[in-house]
Amino acid sequence: MRLPAIFFQRPGSPRRPQGARNITPGNITPCGITGLRVLALLIQNARMNLHEYQAKALLRRYRAPTAAGLVADSPGRAEQCARELGGERWVVKAQVHAGGRGKGGGVALCDSLNEVREAAEGLLGRRLATPQTGPEGLPVEQVYVEQASDIDRELYLAALMDRAAECVCFVGSAAGGMDIEEVARVAPEKVARIRVPAAVGVLPYVGRGLCSVFGLKGEAAGQMQELAVDLYRAFVECDASLVEINPLVVTRDGKLLALDAKVALDSNALFRQPELAAQRDPGQEDELERQAAEAGLSYVSLDGSIACMVNGAGLAMATMDLIKLEGGEPANFLDVGGAADAARVAAGFRLILSNPRVRAILVNIFGGIVRCDVIADGILQAVREARVEVPVIARLEGTNAATARAMLGASGLEITAASDLAEAARKAVELAA
Ligand code: ADP
Ligand code: MG
Repeated sequence: MRLPAIFFQRPGSPRRPQGARNITPGNITPCGITGLRVLALLIQNARMNLHEYQAKALLRRYRAPTAAGLVADSPGRAEQCARELGGERWVVKAQVHAGGRGKGGGVALCDSLNEVREAAEGLLGRRLATPQTGPEGLPVEQVYVEQASDIDRELYLAALMDRAAECVCFVGSAAGGMDIEEVARVAPEKVARIRVPAAVGVLPYVGRGLCSVFGLKGEAAGQMQELAVDLYRAFVECDASLVEINPLVVTRDGKLLALDAKVALDSNALFRQPELAAQRDPGQEDELERQAAEAGLSYVSLDGSIACMVNGAGLAMATMDLIKLEGGEPANFLDVGGAADAARVAAGFRLILSNPRVRAILVNIFGGIVRCDVIADGILQAVREARVEVPVIARLEGTNAATARAMLGASGLEITAASDLAEAARKAVELAA
């Protein structure tokens, strides 16, 4: 039996993998609102999203019922796709890594080939903002052209990781469609959860439970039983952290059909999913966060002006909290990891400096496994290379701290050494003002 990715660690890494899993609610300090936001963002970053067309291709491989569709990157190609698909009505859907496209004008119902071309023209090469993106939206480089279906009812079905129960959980609601977030907020009793114990997998009660939540009978009920088994297999075998079908529709002729699909994969397991990893679309990701991931750093952009470079996620959160306590605002979360070396520190600096809001840089390193002199070397390299024009405040404590402070002092560069963390945070806030 194959277990979900949460049970595994990266091979060759006896320590916990760097990133989201190093952070638990226990790490969040009393004024940790920033920490909570970072935690949410890091968990999000520990996922790789697929586009709808990729997610549907994946689900199709697991026998899930989907409508016929083709992907296009030009209006002409979109029209040709509709012609190839046949039929009289189509939907043209913007492919971006965000939901809420229906509300943001990213899903167009078309009654003619001409309308398909026009809808694709209106979407391709633009940015689409939806309730789930920032106002700047995401770039639309492809559209998915699909046969339009006759919908009787829209349901919500998802499989996700229930971390508390350490198993996969199905979430279902008969009130699916574009307002599911509102339903979950105002009428949470309309959203049911059915846990799947990892040791037994999907037994018939899971499908029956979902049929009862959805009020399914006849052919659709049989399809639901199969879908529960198939979706679970897809989830586990692909190391997913979310498989969501919203809407899963009941068509007018009483059949189930997945009209939308969202799949998020657990980034920590991508090393064993090369085929899926190759489907990544970096164009949909935050540029700085993408560079950070490539350098093996955990980075989250925030809105403030004081950049932080810290080793260890808990220490990074505490550093951000201290900055806030002193009246400043952190510009980012950056964990260079327990095994940081000079090259990583330099990469961290480059990343920090590409954010134009940064007015001061606070380096807070506790030399436990890493040696402070190695970090100091990285700081000096980066400061020389990148022509840092904002004040740098460094608090280096632990192994070889005295040597490190001497190196920074002798460098002739403008780096303020601080011996304790509170002092370092105070100085950073002062100098950024
Ligand atoms: P999003 O979740 O990003 O808003 P969806 O794919 O769920 O995008 O589409 C939004 C709505 O558009 C759906 O709830 C459904 O009502 C309608 N829709 C989507 N695909 C089709 C289709 N193939 N045929 C008919 N209606 C569709
Ligand atoms: Mg949807």
